[in-house]
Amino acid sequence: MSRASLITSLLLAVSATACDRARAPDYPVQPVPFTQVRFADEFWAARLETNRTVTIPHVFAKCEETGRIDNFAIAGGLMEGEQRGAYPFDDTDVYKTIEGASYSLMLQRDPVLEAYLDSVIALIAAAQEPDGYLYTARTNNAERLRGWFGDERWERLERSHELYNAGHLYEAAAAHYLATGKRNLLEVALKNADLIDRSFGPGKLQKPPGHEVIEMGLVRLYRVTGERRYLDLAKFFIDVRGRPLDGRNLGGEYNQDHQPVVEQTEAVGHAVRASYLYAGVADVAALTRERAYVRAVDRIWGDVVGRKLYVTGGIGATGGNEGFSEPYVLPNMSAYNETCASIANIYWNHRMFLLHADARYIDVLERTLYNALLSGISLEGNTFFYPNPLESVGQHGRTPWFTCACCTGNVTRFIASVAGYAYAAAGRDLYVNLYAGSRADVEVAGGAVQLRQETRYPWDGTIKVTLEPEGRSRRFTLNLRIPGWARNEPVPSDLYRYLDEPPEVAPTLLVNGQPVALRLEKGYARISRTWRSGDTIQLKLPMPIRRLAAFDSVKADRGRVALQRGPVVYCVEWPEGRDGHVRNLLLPDDAALGAVFEPDLLHGVTIIRGVARAYRKVAGSDELASSEVPLTAIPYYAWAHRGRGDMAVWLAREEDAVRPLGYPTLASQSRVTASFGRNPEAVNDQLEPRSSIDHDVPFYHWWPHKGTSEWIQYDFPQVSEVSTVEVYWFDDTGIGECRVPASWRVLYLEDGVWKPVWTEEAYGVEKDTWNQVVFETVRSPAVRLEIRSREGWAGGIHEWRIQ
Ligand SMILES: [Zn+2]
Repeated sequence: MSRASLITSLLLAVSATACDRARAPDYPVQPVPFTQVRFADEFWAARLETNRTVTIPHVFAKCEETGRIDNFAIAGGLMEGEQRGAYPFDDTDVYKTIEGASYSLMLQRDPVLEAYLDSVIALIAAAQEPDGYLYTARTNNAERLRGWFGDERWERLERSHELYNAGHLYEAAAAHYLATGKRNLLEVALKNADLIDRSFGPGKLQKPPGHEVIEMGLVRLYRVTGERRYLDLAKFFIDVRGRPLDGRNLGGEYNQDHQPVVEQTEAVGHAVRASYLYAGVADVAALTRERAYVRAVDRIWGDVVGRKLYVTGGIGATGGNEGFSEPYVLPNMSAYNETCASIANIYWNHRMFLLHADARYIDVLERTLYNALLSGISLEGNTFFYPNPLESVGQHGRTPWFTCACCTGNVTRFIASVAGYAYAAAGRDLYVNLYAGSRADVEVAGGAVQLRQETRYPWDGTIKVTLEPEGRSRRFTLNLRIPGWARNEPVPSDLYRYLDEPPEVAPTLLVNGQPVALRLEKGYARISRTWRSGDTIQLKLPMPIRRLAAFDSVKADRGRVALQRGPVVYCVEWPEGRDGHVRNLLLPDDAALGAVFEPDLLHGVTIIRGVARAYRKVAGSDELASSEVPLTAIPYYAWAHRGRGDMAVWLAREEDAVRPLGYPTLASQSRVTASFGRNPEAVNDQLEPRSSIDHDVPFYHWWPHKGTSEWIQYDFPQVSEVSTVEVYWFDDTGIGECRVPASWRVLYLEDGVWKPVWTEEAYGVEKDTWNQVVFETVRSPAVRLEIRSREGWAGGIHEWRIQ
């Protein structure tokens, strides 16, 4: 088999490396590999080019700078030194970026990049121990990381990430082999997989990985080599999860180790772990025809889409577990939505589509793609978000790197291969899943078809498809996805719904200029006919601005509205706000909205314009004042490109939900400093928490300082009289390490010396309420809270008022 056709068949997920395996079970629908699709549009082509020229070099440079590549050289005895980096899974950042670079090479040859990969692979190969073990932290005897991996191999799988590292190695090796035909990294991967195969399985070690991904990685090796034992090993790692074999203690929900996978019904725990598992289960289900696996991922998918999905398509609401929360708990400002989780969610939904040939999975995929995922990488390609919240008061900004850098390499491999989600085929059915100006070479009904798409999607829903079947004509069914957003169904559940009336104009379809009735099946308009060279299809998906509401159980979104146009979810951001504020806006249901394309804004975006009302508290009264203000909404993915500040996806549509601006107070006008920690200005932002654990408004803490004496201070604009202090403590009992303090007191500044105020009142440490202390009036340029945090715990403050 030529390499070109090998690539095609392997990327197609066809496991046939020999004819006798042609009928081996696999996904009933096969994706058209990204190598067969060329995006030539204003949206994705630029992203791909930025990934190739900026992001991949940037992430490699960071891997070098932070010792991630040296760690391999040291392990291989090619260099003196100590293991660097905070985590034993730092190796995977290199693997993921090799995978991204390999995909990029498939799209565009680059001898310099290819040579660089060879040089890095030589170090990886050197770092591998003689029996195949590969994990630099242990080989380099990194004593300070010992807590992660223990004294013996595989001893602490729940923490060590030894098998997680392996999984990413396999994915990188398969990609590199397909891209270059070279076996240098593949041989490293196979040697490692053979060691793991010798070490794990029935009658051997029976433990699941603490962080999934090896399941998908082993399937990839199976597809490349045709070696059935890699598939069996992937299946073993799925089956052993949640089973207390050999007296093993289960790992719990955090890593989906609470019950056997085939019995699981809900998405729980760490969102990246979970979604990698579900994607791996789908792979093994397709390759083994194990129906129980399909039933499990179907149930879990229903749970996510019905109760745990953000309107941006992000998953994993809470930071404490980097994962899923209780159903319908979808806070906006503290939304975690890790970029890796968005990538994993797309991997999973794509596989669900390949299993079921239903467009609803692509609806979820598309929502995640254009919103939660793209938010994770800047338009310039060199800064990243780890969490992707839906609301901000300026505490969030993309950064060039993270100590835990998982999301960065992940972005490189995802973006490079994004065109692989556009098309798929099954027998006589050709599926068009994503709309983007592109050319594709697809195989359908036993022959080749060239397909050209012309569109300005996602800004315009007019799509023209031209077909060129090989041999002039071919009979097959073209399945054009009519996105959920164009069918009045924003998500395939009742979690979100449109508030406004469905648009009067429905999607329309022309074949060679003649109107054709839309015959919808599983979300696709199906057109069966004999297609001839030059046949054209014109699909028009009207793209009105739509108002979305969340299911009432989602408390965070009650009385609120989000805007969507086409697949793009919008937000309002500080540059367009009045005095930088947007969270105090109310958008009435009847306010007119209009869309306009701005070619020079944020690399070219369609924005939404309208009128909203801005709310403010009135001093000395419970009344609110409001005034009409212009509203501009930008695509959510493009936020935080113009500095930090207010942002909100969900705007109030009812007065109960509005967050009025406070009036200026002595506290709000003071400069805040503290003994330690970030964003002390959270304490005077006038955003009142509903409880001490409230993550929907900013808070300040001294974590990880525990049991220490700390301070926080207000410097007034001028010497002022103060006689009352009120503190709302931050306390995250149950999910974090902050508690109300052991004790505290108020100090004021007199002649350059801090002195305690005089009071007979007790300094309260009550949770979920204001703790007020009245004292003898002082005249001072500043006051300070001195707190002693409880032994073993850190202190924190939500809000601090003074009078
Ligand atoms: Zn990540």
